[in-house]
Amino acid sequence: MEKTKVYFTDFRTGLGVSLPDKLKKLIRLAGIGSIDMDGKLVAIKMHFGEMGNIAYLRPNYAKAVADVVKEQGGKPFLTDCNTLYPGYRKNAIDHLYCAEVNGFGWMTTGCPVIIGEYCRTAFIGKSVMDADVFISLTHFKGHEATGFGGTLKNIGMGCGSRAGKMQQHNSGKPHVITDRCRGCRRCARECGSDAISYDTGKAWIDPDICKGCGRCIGACSFDAIENTNANANEILCCKIAEYSQAVCDGRPCFHISLITDVSPNCDCHGENDAPILPNIGMLASFDPVALDQACVDLCQKAEPIRNSQLGDNLARPDWHCHHDHFTDSNPNVRWKETLEHGEKIGLGSRVYELVTMK
Ligand code: SF4
Ligand code: SF4
Repeated sequence: MEKTKVYFTDFRTGLGVSLPDKLKKLIRLAGIGSIDMDGKLVAIKMHFGEMGNIAYLRPNYAKAVADVVKEQGGKPFLTDCNTLYPGYRKNAIDHLYCAEVNGFGWMTTGCPVIIGEYCRTAFIGKSVMDADVFISLTHFKGHEATGFGGTLKNIGMGCGSRAGKMQQHNSGKPHVITDRCRGCRRCARECGSDAISYDTGKAWIDPDICKGCGRCIGACSFDAIENTNANANEILCCKIAEYSQAVCDGRPCFHISLITDVSPNCDCHGENDAPILPNIGMLASFDPVALDQACVDLCQKAEPIRNSQLGDNLARPDWHCHHDHFTDSNPNVRWKETLEHGEKIGLGSRVYELVTMK
């Protein structure tokens, strides 16, 4: 059986060749031209970055993809769905404002930004489901709950409405291991839902308020927060794959992922810590599972950056090395399940051929 192809190019450029132009060349080589976009609505799903975060993909890349869509007669728009937790992307108005401040406007991208609203049955953003063609444009980086934030995360969690995000996260709410808690309050600063209090000097999570997003688990440096359901992260990974399939099912899809500014956590954070890995390159494929697997494999081969979350962990004399950059950066994560489950349900293949474009 022929292997799925994933197209790759690094960030080297010749004189006068811009990176957006290189991205256009890559996605054409990967076959985006075979999708009939004539007169069709084409959703380009991306993450506009939380206010204060500057690791998200630059609008220039979105414009490159939108330009190619327009060349093919399509009507592109950029889209994302609202977040589960408070911040600048929790409702459509704030989200649009945040996208504008972060540089995503008509002038910079040449197309409109539409924020997904609630779709009652599928729990997927309506703007995404209304599109004839779906393109994911992903910033590949680390993630505090799912190990890496890649294409499946961008699609599955990213296209979920608030109800859909809740459904994916609801497999477990964390609790505090009181003996380990030092009362540093870092977890409460990360919790956008005000679910953590300190009445006894130690953290306590109110299960009635907690949304189960898991951000506090990654925030605690003392392993004092764990999920009540030991399989919660595993289940979350599987649900992300299933939501991705619901988004991609029944219409032409194409996927692009850029491994750049590999911050340890999601772009939903209002900050981005130093990259844990060097900038690696741009990838494109029709297969979202193969694309994520290729990004993972390239990242695992890369040299960790010193003075980063990953570099600091690996330098600790007492560190138990996992020989896995995502787990060594965020030890409580599970990530393989997303890819394994994605393959199991027929979303794509983890076996691929990497085609390198110079
Ligand atoms: S971050 Fe960890 S140690 Fe600090 S208050 Fe929260 S649970 Fe306790
Ligand atoms: S999982 Fe943690 S960060 Fe998320 S809502 Fe619950 S207490 Fe807050």
